[in-house]
Amino acid sequence: MHNHAAHNYVCPFCLLTQGISNEHVESVYTDIVCQSDLVTAVVSSHQWPRNPGNILIIPTQHFENIYDFPPRLAADIQEAAQIIAIAMKEVYGCDGVSTRQHNEPAGSQDVWHYHLHVTPRFDGDRFYETLTTERAWMPPEERAWHARRLSGAIGKGCVSSQLMYREFQFSKHALFSTHLKCTQWQIGL
Ligand SMILES: [Zn+2]
Repeated sequence: MHNHAAHNYVCPFCLLTQGISNEHVESVYTDIVCQSDLVTAVVSSHQWPRNPGNILIIPTQHFENIYDFPPRLAADIQEAAQIIAIAMKEVYGCDGVSTRQHNEPAGSQDVWHYHLHVTPRFDGDRFYETLTTERAWMPPEERAWHARRLSGAIGKGCVSSQLMYREFQFSKHALFSTHLKCTQWQIGL
C-alpha cells in the first residue's frame, strides 16, 4: 500500500538478510549484529559522526513501509530495539537512545524495506540538527567493528541478564534459527 519501489527493485535489505552480497548494494553481511527468523539488526551504511553506531532493525521478510507492516511483528521489532539499546548503553556509554521510523519520500524513507533506526545519543549532540547536514557513509570495516562490539555486549550478558533472554550461540551459521542470535566475526580490527 502506498508503495514506491519499482517493479524491478532489488531490495538491499532482502539481499542482506539472506546473506547475499551484491556489488550494487552498500550493506554487507558483516553489518549484521544479530538476527532471528523474523528480525535482523544491522549497522547502517550511513552514519552521523557525532552519533556513530546507528542501527537498523528490519523485518527479515520484505514489507515496504508502515502501511504494509504486520502489527504482529511489532513486538519482535521492539524487542530487538530494546536489546540493541541496552547494548548501546554498555558499548558506547551513551546518555540516551533515540528511535526513528520513516515512510515514503516525504517521510524521509530512502530504502523500500521497513526499518527502525536506533541511535545512540549524547548530551548536547544536537542530533536532529545534523540529520541532513552530517549524514556520511561509513566504510564496511568500521561498520563491522560496531557490529562486533554490540554483538559482543549482547553475548556477554549485558542484555540477556536484564531481559532474561535465551542463551546466545556464537556462530554465523546459527542464523535463521528460532531465537535471536549474535554473529561473531573473525575480522582483525
Ligand atoms: Zn526487502
